[in-house]
Amino acid sequence: MILIVGGAGYIGSHINKFLHAQGIETVVLDNLSYGHEEFVKWGKFIEGDLSDESILSHIFEKYPIDTVMHFAAFTYVGESVENPQKYYKNNLENTLNLLNLMKNHKVNKFIFSSTCAVYGEPEKLPLTEDHPLNPVNPYGNTKLMVEKILEDYSRAYDFNYVSLRYFNAAGADPDMEIGEWHQPETHLIPLVLDAVSGRRESVSIYGTDYPTPDGTCIRDYIHVLDLAQAHYKALEYLNEKNKSQVFNLGNGNGFSVKEIIETCQEVTGREIKVIEDSPRPGDPPILVGSSHKAKEILGWNPQWTSIGEIISTAWNWHKKLYGETNKL
Ligand code: UDP
Repeated sequence: MILIVGGAGYIGSHINKFLHAQGIETVVLDNLSYGHEEFVKWGKFIEGDLSDESILSHIFEKYPIDTVMHFAAFTYVGESVENPQKYYKNNLENTLNLLNLMKNHKVNKFIFSSTCAVYGEPEKLPLTEDHPLNPVNPYGNTKLMVEKILEDYSRAYDFNYVSLRYFNAAGADPDMEIGEWHQPETHLIPLVLDAVSGRRESVSIYGTDYPTPDGTCIRDYIHVLDLAQAHYKALEYLNEKNKSQVFNLGNGNGFSVKEIIETCQEVTGREIKVIEDSPRPGDPPILVGSSHKAKEILGWNPQWTSIGEIISTAWNWHKKLYGETNKL
């Protein structure tokens, strides 16, 4: 049985659904600060905070948990620059707390949601797992620190982990049971779709003077269902190999902010108002990853390679969540 910490959120809920489709039982722990209870349609749901040792101990005593997947992190780069304390408290201290309780209860397999933000400014593209790790914002720092802790724990204790460094998660469940729903929303694709449906007046481009072909930041967008498949493969890896690993999860293709806005307009057939704004602190100009290692070692086989199709699943979900036009 798997404990999914943060399983009511965007990525965790898709993984919960995917695991159930494979016949795997889950318990979801989520404090619903950003997650949605209605996203936990599979498995057992327990409302609670990662910092609450008694809830975690109760879960480990009551359910035969053998693996923990950990999604309960704050992920806003800009906010982490303004309020690092919030990020170190939750992403670092609470995760350490979780690992220590796992150790006490002899739960020794862990799948960690890491991020391409651990690399910082790329020295060489596409980013491979052995690229130097120099995060440029507190969010990336917290994720790297946890990766280091995992390395040390796996060396010292009977404990194995897989760290999955996500590039930009995007898209939604094609059955439209769950999808991206952040409050407040800060991510590019859902913000553009908000503008498309009239939920907001315009979209700002954060920085138009970056050293990229059109001057806007380039990111590697990966469908959330492909992330789900990778978690399943990582679980199989931990069960079979008894070893720890770190993998990038990206498509290997970069799209600029302008290209994403254009593709959203093409997919939806609507024009939006775009405002050129100043850069957001902590944003590297280009993040594109090689996922060769995950493909080779895990046999990961991403299905959603077209950015138009990824955005189209996000648009279908957006229409289901808010309606097609102008409903707030
Ligand atoms: N971005 C933007 N306008 C927005 C939101 C995001 O120009 O309203 C840019 C952001 O600077 C970054 C890219 O879009 O270069 C993706 O940002 P997002 O917040 O979606 O993901 P992140 O890369 O921060 O994980």
